[in-house]
Amino acid sequence: MENKKENQKEIRVRFAPSPTGELHIGGLRTALTDFLFVRKNRGKFILRIEDTDQKRIVPGAIERIIEMLEWAGIKIDEGVKFKNNKENTIWEVGDFGPYIQSERLKIYQEYVQKLLNEGKAYRCFCSPERLEKMRKTQQKRKEAPKYDRFCLRLTPKEIEEKIRKKEPYVIRFKIPEGKTSFEDLVYGKIEVNNDILDDPIILKSDGFPTYHLAMVVDDHLMKITHIFRGVEWLSSAPKHILLFEAFGWRATMPKLIHMPNILNKNRKKLSKREGSVSVLDFKNQGYPPAAIVNFIALLGWNPKTEQEIFTLDELIDQFDIQKMNRAGGVFDIDRLNWISAQHIKKMTINDLYENALPFLREKDFYKNWEKENKLENEEARKEYVKKVLKVERDRLEKFTQTGENNRFFFSDEINIIPDDLRWKNSSNEETKKNLSKAMETLNRLSEKEWELARIEKILLDVAGEKRGDLLFPLRAALTGQKKSPSPFEVAWVLGKDKTLSRIKNALSILE
Ligand code: GLU
Repeated sequence: MENKKENQKEIRVRFAPSPTGELHIGGLRTALTDFLFVRKNRGKFILRIEDTDQKRIVPGAIERIIEMLEWAGIKIDEGVKFKNNKENTIWEVGDFGPYIQSERLKIYQEYVQKLLNEGKAYRCFCSPERLEKMRKTQQKRKEAPKYDRFCLRLTPKEIEEKIRKKEPYVIRFKIPEGKTSFEDLVYGKIEVNNDILDDPIILKSDGFPTYHLAMVVDDHLMKITHIFRGVEWLSSAPKHILLFEAFGWRATMPKLIHMPNILNKNRKKLSKREGSVSVLDFKNQGYPPAAIVNFIALLGWNPKTEQEIFTLDELIDQFDIQKMNRAGGVFDIDRLNWISAQHIKKMTINDLYENALPFLREKDFYKNWEKENKLENEEARKEYVKKVLKVERDRLEKFTQTGENNRFFFSDEINIIPDDLRWKNSSNEETKKNLSKAMETLNRLSEKEWELARIEKILLDVAGEKRGDLLFPLRAALTGQKKSPSPFEVAWVLGKDKTLSRIKNALSILE
């Protein structure tokens, strides 16, 4: 019975950000990988906050991280989350709390004491000045920077004396002799000689643990089964393994999966200098969360099929550690835009409307249009915007682009240049004739018959072979632009009255 339980050990994965600012793309990739793995294996996604470096804490960062995870559709099963989904009320849920490291100081201090008692850790009283001098000497001798274990040689009496005199100290883990080898599920087997490892500080003079110790203690106590994290931590992994070992936890330690850096187009590590790297920036730019998730997920692994567009459920279904890459994925904004366009194309008009409206409402051209409010009521306004979206849906890469290239939908002040109305070598007279023809044709449709398919058919029938002659001036008359959705679509959105009055206006310009 007991054995069976052990075999079916629940998968528990933690996302463990430090609250030092906005969640960035790399962090979201880690969280997403955690989440896909956990959902695929019916495990738990845990949010743990690693705030042991008190100097770097940014107020409000925890809330922002939770907000961004929720925006991306990542649901927190355990740990730190919002109470009743109300933003800004943080609480901690689960049997392994607290989940915020600064609330666990006593626990860490106890475990550090254990290592001290067993001679596996030691107090270090070295001043920053001494350490700096040591480093400089090592540099001169071209040696790797490493603590010289000066304080390991202190006698118990000397230590007692220093403590009595209240000399500040840190606690270091004594790296044992030998070799450390382990298997990373992406990078494979890794082995290091312990003598290249520096005795890491595990408890700082302010009583706070360092990341190394807090992570090991928490991952053990919280029964974490897998650690997904950035490759920048790979070089610290041997220290962590030795710590697990020192506590007697090596056999049950979590599996390690390090993920390569996200790269820019020059195949260098993506950095802030390249523009947006925070998830909030992408949200504010109007990308649908499903598109960001689709794009980010594939930066870390390859589904090994032709499929490129995935919903979150499809990503969960396809996810497999075996498919994770060792080579860094390239953050290609053109690809993100393409993926985003595919997601928007698949949205229902109602969904698109709900998502695009907040962005539209920020734009002056839209605010003015709403203010002028020539439409009879709220319902009519909604219907009109939905029509615009129907026409634009296949052309949008992000919600912020709504209406941007087609402002003529929201303003009658369109700028018509007579030359733009004339098709190829057409004369003024011919252009006028064609515009009049379009007007008469469209006038034959009643308000009720003003449907896209009918508008298209009736105009094409009349144009016959000479499509350009009729449609080119019509487009210019309705939009004032050379590029726009088709004149049928534009006429359909504008409605009969506006369409006819814009043609009339163009005719008067040609007079
Ligand atoms: N707090 C660490 C970070 O933000 C977590 C690393 C880990 O997942 O172990 O990078």
